[in-house]
Amino acid sequence: MRINKITGVNPKFIKIDLKDTLATHSVFNEHKDASGVIHFVAHKAVGEAVDQPLKYYKNNFYSLLNTLEAQSKNGINNFIFSSSSATLYGIPDILLITEKNETQRPFSPYGNTKKVAEEILDDLIRSNKAFSAISLRYFNSIGAHESGEIGEPPNGIPNNLMPYITQTAVGIREKLMIYVNDYPTKDGTPIRDYIHIVDLAKAHVIAVERLLNKDQETALEFFNLGTGIGYSVLDVINAFEAVTNSKLNYEITGRRDGDVPQFYAATDLTKEKLGWTVQKGLDEIVSSSWNWEQNLRNETQ
Ligand code: UDP
Repeated sequence: MRINKITGVNPKFIKIDLKDTLATHSVFNEHKDASGVIHFVAHKAVGEAVDQPLKYYKNNFYSLLNTLEAQSKNGINNFIFSSSSATLYGIPDILLITEKNETQRPFSPYGNTKKVAEEILDDLIRSNKAFSAISLRYFNSIGAHESGEIGEPPNGIPNNLMPYITQTAVGIREKLMIYVNDYPTKDGTPIRDYIHIVDLAKAHVIAVERLLNKDQETALEFFNLGTGIGYSVLDVINAFEAVTNSKLNYEITGRRDGDVPQFYAATDLTKEKLGWTVQKGLDEIVSSSWNWEQNLRNETQ
């Protein structure tokens, strides 16, 4: 319904558990004419994954393996994978991350599911010459659709910065805790590469076209989806305060486990090969997140 409001299109929706092998095979069997798959499925909370690794391995791998098996069996040979940058590249020695950076054994089981998934794709492609895939490695994707119709409602207390900011601003959380101001950065707070979710979505459209037009240089390709620009936590807060003309309640506290001081994407490969560049800046990211949060509160009142 929300997609229809924005696009005028009613996509067919089939609800199944992709861990269910029979159900997954049955859906792909009925849709042999599909051109390909964009696979977004995953549990994705790093902290929860550390506490419950089997839940993560089971969900993320069963769903992936069932999908790959069912689609290949039905001759659906194009695949886009939602991968992850921060967890995959590990804690880097250098700050600017290119696709050639050595990936490391990820700190969390969540990250490991993404790393091993890319290896599974590599193995599958070696065994099935008809199969092609693009793995998109997301940096910090935030923001919402400008209509305020589509965004991410976090489950429970948010772990991520942006929903925590917007929930503090509407009064659901008392204050934002900033995880430390003594990093070796311009203002002491960590720097990240925040990418608007709409820019991120557009990259998927381009990646799909690349697969369908058979424009790939290798059967499995990897692309960073980031802006190449790093913003500190205080930059994000300042942008939020400017856009909303309000003051955010925050406090500096201790470091969070696993946080890296600075991390942002090299975007040259993505620009060159996909012809994709970001169009939305930090202000649009912040204002769309705020718009989304307010719509969400209006709906739940
Ligand atoms: N952060 C923070 N307070 C919060 C949540 C996040 O200061 O309540 C900081 C965190 O230390 C990191 C940045 O905001 O530097 C982005 O964190 P997020 O969890 O959104 O993404 P991550 O980069 O960890 O994947």
